[in-house]
Amino acid sequence: MKSQHLSFELLVDLAEDRLAAKDEQLAREHLATCSTCQSEMLRIEHLSAQMRTFGDRPQPHTSSWLRALFRAALRATRPRRVIDTALFDSRLSPSAYGLRSGATLERQIFFEAEPFTIDLRIIPHSEQWTLIGQVMGPASGGAATLLGPDLSREAEISSLGEFALVAIPPSRCTLMLALATETLIMPDLEVGI
Ligand SMILES: [Zn+2]
Repeated sequence: MKSQHLSFELLVDLAEDRLAAKDEQLAREHLATCSTCQSEMLRIEHLSAQMRTFGDRPQPHTSSWLRALFRAALRATRPRRVIDTALFDSRLSPSAYGLRSGATLERQIFFEAEPFTIDLRIIPHSEQWTLIGQVMGPASGGAATLLGPDLSREAEISSLGEFALVAIPPSRCTLMLALATETLIMPDLEVGI
């Protein structure tokens, strides 16, 4: 382990106290002598602290979910903004939307995040769900990431602001939209539940 740098996954596990004692000792021995891994570790610890401020609900803490979340956050080096209140949710006002309420029907949600409006449609598709989104505003392109306890989906945001995430099992998710100017995070999105 001395001859090569510590992997990203190993550093995340170290930051989250998930390593066996022997592995942790080896990792710390390398860290003590390697400034490259030290600076990566600092970045991960900083992110780890930020993650805990995402919301006051308890975060699911499976290892793969955490890693995916860290990867997405590391990619998104721009300012981040958490948007946790929908401007409109057809589930809450079915008559305004003109559809009956019900878990098996299409659902539409708007989020307002000046200068952006985000239009999400959650559409049932044989036991699973498709999330069709559009970012309206000055952005052109980016990446959409949907993360849940056992879920990681990613899609490109087109120059028209459109994206589609498919084959989503019913879950409580975090949606991250990495745009040119900032990353928008919707931390408590219920898909199919
Ligand atoms: Zn190293």
